[in-house]
Amino acid sequence: MKQAKAQTLIPTAQAETLLGMFVTHIKEDHGLTVQIEEDGTHIVDEQAFRIAFGATPSGLSVDLVTPNESTLLFFKEEIVAHVAEVDEHAATNIRWDDDAASAGELPGNFRVLRVLDSFILFTGMQRVILSYPGIATHAHDGAHLRLMLPAKAGRRPVWPVMGDNGVPIWPQGDDVLHARFITIKDINVEAETVSLDIVRHDHGFISQWAQNVKTGDDVGAMGPAGMLELPEATSYFLAADGTGLPCIARFLETLDPNARGNVVVAAPQEYDLSDYLPATNLDIHKVAPGLFEGRIAELAQQLTKPGLTDYAFFAGEFQNAQELRKYFKKVLNLDKKTQISATYWRRGMPGAAG
Ligand SMILES: Cc1cc2nc3c(=O)[nH]c(=O)nc-3n(C[C@H](O)[C@H](O)[C@H](O)COP(=O)(O)OP(=O)(O)OC[C@H]3O[C@@H](n4cnc5c(N)ncnc54)[C@H](O)[C@@H]3O)c2cc1C
Repeated sequence: MKQAKAQTLIPTAQAETLLGMFVTHIKEDHGLTVQIEEDGTHIVDEQAFRIAFGATPSGLSVDLVTPNESTLLFFKEEIVAHVAEVDEHAATNIRWDDDAASAGELPGNFRVLRVLDSFILFTGMQRVILSYPGIATHAHDGAHLRLMLPAKAGRRPVWPVMGDNGVPIWPQGDDVLHARFITIKDINVEAETVSLDIVRHDHGFISQWAQNVKTGDDVGAMGPAGMLELPEATSYFLAADGTGLPCIARFLETLDPNARGNVVVAAPQEYDLSDYLPATNLDIHKVAPGLFEGRIAELAQQLTKPGLTDYAFFAGEFQNAQELRKYFKKVLNLDKKTQISATYWRRGMPGAAG
């Protein structure tokens, strides 16, 4: 597997405090296991990445291994942000040993993408097609892009540039950017385009942008990054509202043709999902978008069985994600390797702040 690596020694007298904070965050917020080696190194060893932390008298060492440069940058950003919560000075003075983009340059995973088209794919869903020169090189880097636009409409964009500490410096004040994750539904390598499907709603900047964008407009994008394949299982339960529908489509593309299970997605009754989802052995259940949030927990119970369902995935609204995570773990007895229940948006709040 192609890998991207970076190491740092975070210069801080609070290495043990920082280590404790990372361990708690990784366990409680990400539900991952942290192994402790004989020499005290704390390791998170997942299929897709590895992080090793070591508290030393001169600071906290961090050793990252990820599948690609784009994911590596997202990890570095998360680490620097968490260090800043405890020790801002140390966060500013972090230096990584890899040769990522230098200070002042655009981040390596950043592109300005041009809009080619935007239209209603089906009721409630806007498709935006973007030109992405060189996408062939990044087609397997991950499923999602972080789109970004000036939060003040009509303002000339000021894009993030790399700081000395290996992470982007985001513009502030009038130049602040509104950034949100959106999944790449389709990639056309020959045409060098990507298709995004964005839920049409009245409350969000990115959704409004998608609905009103014109051919030739530009948008900033970081990525792609994020899981593209599900682990092998005997019986899957995959569910998502409109925000996770493109992601479910990407997962189904990669599943073994003999895979079995159930898929529950939000889509209008009149829309034929065989036009959207790849051919699959899994049973597809369509729920009207307006009913999805109220029905998904009950459907999960009907379509799964403890001891039989051995992989579960959900993406959608925060309350649904909370409820389903509990169900996957407590009733289906699934663990961090066999279930994901992800908040993709939160009612009444910007972003996916879970
Ligand atoms: C990994 C990942 C992949 C994602 N992929 C997609 C995708 O492919 N397509 C997609 O549409 N979304 C996707 N999302 C969700 C998307 O990022 C959020 O819906 C985001 O809030 C939209 O940004 P916004 O600027 O429109 O609204 P925000 O500024 O974030 O929020 C403003 C208001 O809009 C409301 N809101 C946000 N989303 C919705 C919604 N879907 N329905 C009703 N109200 C809403 C919020 O509750 C808030 O009150 C993804 C999220 C993640 C984390």
